[in-house]
Amino acid sequence: MTAPSVFGAHLIGGEWIDSGPTAVSDNPARPDEPVGEYRLGDSATAGDAISAAVDARAVWASTPFGARARILERIASLMEARAEEIATLCTLEEGKTIAESRGEAALAAETFRFHAGMSKTSTERIFPSPTPGETIRTVRAPLGVVGVITPWNFPIQIPAWKIAPALAAGNCVVWKPASNTPLTAAAIARVFDDAGLPAGVVNLVLGPGSMGNAIVTDERVDGVTFTGSVPVGFGIRDAVTARNGRVQLELGGHNPALVFDDTDFAVSIPALVAGAMGATGQKCTATRRIIAVGNVYDELVERLAEAVRGLSVGDGMHEGVGIGPLVSPGAATEVAEGLAAAKAEGAEVVATTESAPDGGCFFAPTLLAGGTDLTIAHEEIFGPISTVMRVDTEDGAFALANDTEFGLSASIFTNDLWRIDRAVHELQAGVIKVNAPTTGTELHAPFGGEKASSGHAAREQGDTAVDFFTRTRTAYIRPGTAR
Ligand code: NAD
Repeated sequence: MTAPSVFGAHLIGGEWIDSGPTAVSDNPARPDEPVGEYRLGDSATAGDAISAAVDARAVWASTPFGARARILERIASLMEARAEEIATLCTLEEGKTIAESRGEAALAAETFRFHAGMSKTSTERIFPSPTPGETIRTVRAPLGVVGVITPWNFPIQIPAWKIAPALAAGNCVVWKPASNTPLTAAAIARVFDDAGLPAGVVNLVLGPGSMGNAIVTDERVDGVTFTGSVPVGFGIRDAVTARNGRVQLELGGHNPALVFDDTDFAVSIPALVAGAMGATGQKCTATRRIIAVGNVYDELVERLAEAVRGLSVGDGMHEGVGIGPLVSPGAATEVAEGLAAAKAEGAEVVATTESAPDGGCFFAPTLLAGGTDLTIAHEEIFGPISTVMRVDTEDGAFALANDTEFGLSASIFTNDLWRIDRAVHELQAGVIKVNAPTTGTELHAPFGGEKASSGHAAREQGDTAVDFFTRTRTAYIRPGTAR
């Protein structure tokens, strides 16, 4: 093993806590070259971070919004200045290509800039009053201390989606990133520290899921925003709501793309392949089912197969590589088992990527053909596998698209405006894309899912992001003198 090159510590109350046991962060593309070591916290570490956030709460909440916005703008600028360092750590720890990581770092910086701007717009409302002289006005108060628990698949962007609006609204944060990407998180926390956030406003704790549980169950944490898997998310929902805390969940997906016979393949093929296989299929919005309607099936399968075969899989740090490895050996085993089960159930392998290296965390993107009887047609396998299914009618296609417990994103490829209108109204998904991949969203528009893909809290991103992080109070204000 080569010597660790970087070190991750906890950031608690403005201090870097560089003590306690250590763990190694691995590189899924180069198993014998670990990325570095990090401190492994426990429930007590989480408790210290919550205490620091509680202590900082009053000062940050009473900091004028303009001053808060200036710090958020500094975070954005510093993140841009350090984008290459952060993106490199992301690729080394998570495996995605360096181009994908650079994109994430740029969008995360932009997210802080957006919420700095948003904090200068009013979230208050004025209502008419039947009482002469009275004003009815809503004001927003910060929630208080917010637990932010994030997954490894977007280790730069998802924390930004949550932390930027939380800070803009005057909250203090205890952030627990996924244990696959601790050094990326530590690099981001250094940006927060260097940008001049007061001590305790953002606290970073590194460690396993059990540490997340200590955040979720602590009465001092007013709200928890979580992105990750369904079982963990539902457990968090139950724990937080049992103590009457507020919870926001963004969970899994099983996203369909409907393709009709008037599609332009020059538009649909690249969008379908990017949606299914981009970021090694490790996106909650990845295209898991491609629903071919009627006669389009044969040519669609042929063209998709050609594109999938030609993808380039390899170490994400190498130029020209389009698809990196899966995040960990455990993930590689899970995805391989999902594929084996699908084949055993009768799925036909239409194409696999020819350039994929053998072994380790590398996995050849795979296009399957099959029906709804396959387990993979219903359950999320978090990797680059997508299944093409044939249906004969438009009604059948819409029914099949909605035949899932999830409702995160959906695409439709057609030029028929009536069908597009139907899709926008009838597809049960929080994100609907027309002639575009199921993946990819804009940070200034609301994001979230339906059904088992989300909880019931306000949407993330855009101008609605602030709703989760604030309490609305309604004030009835009358003059204090009689007239
Ligand atoms: P995960 O649920 O295993 O872990 C997510 C986070 O929760 C990690 O930080 C983990 O350490 C922590 N955690 C684990 N157990 C916990 C517990 N008992 N209490 C508190 N925290 C705990 O998910 P993952 O493997 O990191 O991410 C992949 C999943 O995330 C996929 O299902 C994917 O669809 C989903 N995802 C959803 C979205 C979305 O916006 N809907 C975005 C990205 C990923």
